[in-house]
Order: sequence, then C-alpha cells, then structure tokens
Amino acid sequence: MTAGPAEHPHVSLLLGAYVLDALTDREAGEVSRHLLRCDACAAAYTEVLQAPGFLALLTEQDLLE
Ligand SMILES: [Zn+2]
Repeated sequence: MTAGPAEHPHVSLLLGAYVLDALTDREAGEVSRHLLRCDACAAAYTEVLQAPGFLALLTEQDLLE
C-alpha cells in the first residue's frame, strides 16, 4: 500500500470505529468523504462491513441505515 498525500490521509485505521459509529461527527465526515475518492479505503471499508467480528457487534437496525 502506498502512502497518500499528507492532506488526504488514509482512513483505514478509523474504519472500525466508523462502522461502529464511534467517531465524532467531524471524523465520520472525513472518513465518509475519503471513501468516496479512495478506492483502497472503500475496498477496506467493504471488507470491514463483511467481517464476522464486526457484523456480530452491529444490530440489524444499524445495517439498514
Ligand atoms: Zn484511502
């Protein structure tokens, strides 16, 4: 994996907290915007969503939102 520009840091380390809605609104917004323009992080986000460990922590209502 290559490092992104300093002003556009990758958000892979925040994805777990993002999925669990544990970030601040500002952090969640940054992650959301980053996912729209970064294929690598978008793919990582999809993997996190599909990880059994994370799914077990999510309620069905969370998944519908
Ligand atoms: Zn990224």
